[in-house]
Amino acid sequence: MARILDGKWVRDQILAELQPRVEAIVKVGRPPGLAVVLVGENPASEIYVRNKVRSCEELGIYSEKLTPAETISTEELLAIVCALNARPEIDGILVQMPLPRQVDSRKILLAIAPEKDVDGFHPVSMGNLVSGNPGPRACTPSGIMQILKRYEIPVAGKKAVVVGRSDIVGKPMAMMLLHAHATVTICHSRTSNLENECRQADILVAAIGRPAFVRGSSIKPGAVVIDVGMNRLATRAEAEAAFGGYPEKLADFERKGSLLVGDVHPMEVAHTEAYTPVPGGVGPLTIAMLMANTVTLAESHLGL
Ligand code: NDP
Repeated sequence: MARILDGKWVRDQILAELQPRVEAIVKVGRPPGLAVVLVGENPASEIYVRNKVRSCEELGIYSEKLTPAETISTEELLAIVCALNARPEIDGILVQMPLPRQVDSRKILLAIAPEKDVDGFHPVSMGNLVSGNPGPRACTPSGIMQILKRYEIPVAGKKAVVVGRSDIVGKPMAMMLLHAHATVTICHSRTSNLENECRQADILVAAIGRPAFVRGSSIKPGAVVIDVGMNRLATRAEAEAAFGGYPEKLADFERKGSLLVGDVHPMEVAHTEAYTPVPGGVGPLTIAMLMANTVTLAESHLGL
């Protein structure tokens, strides 16, 4: 019987361990500080940012939300980031993506001081990850490493396959698994015979953005499956494309009106050793690791 890897259980442990560290930081003068910049009105981004701010409040981290208008220019946003770089009480700066089309996202990302790069997306942070130097790490893959660690899933010597090569998930994930001594294959949309590559995996990470894309036949029996995907099925046609042949899932869709689905087919994981469900697997870790990065940056800024 496949084990369910419960992301909330891991998240709660991480947050509980952060609490005394936040208290120690407060004792030396001030709470850790996180600035979140949310440009314009994007309902999904607003939910993410609200959850981030709430997590800060619960932990005693100072958070500041800046909400410039959708029409902001690259130069105006650069000025906001530079002002945050200069403020000593702000330890981490997060600019919520995606940004409006007129803004040069790359310039904004580069403008964040690497020592405040709480998301770990700055090229300096990426370089530190590749070379194994300390520094903030991308939150979602580092959360996945925490799931593997806390469920005592061996990584060294295992064959890991990461499907997806984005800068925020796939690439840093592959590098972290490599540092943990897995033999890593990275797959993407041009990979030939993807199913065959996936079937080699002892640890399969799917970060693709396509609902129920990885089928059970692509997963080796006994593999550990990490499903990063977060895809909302909003129409009956989408639900049928993902779950044709599974009337219980279609009935679920009819009842709820929409479904949140990962990149791995959730009805075809019974033969795995363990898997992360969607929702409730990888998702809860991303904010927890953002909090962890904020605390670590604050400790470093305060010389703790
Ligand atoms: P991106 O769109 O940036 O990257 C998707 C990757 O999947 C690309 O490398 C792409 O390949 C690859 N891909 C797309 N289609 C295929 C295909 N048919 N076969 C093989 N590879 C394919 O997505 P992200 O990395 O940002 O996110 C991936 C998923 O994870 C999304 O569902 C997202 O919502 C979710 N996510 C969840 C988070 C969480 O907290 N749980 C956090 C971040 C993301 P190519 O490079 O060739 O185009």
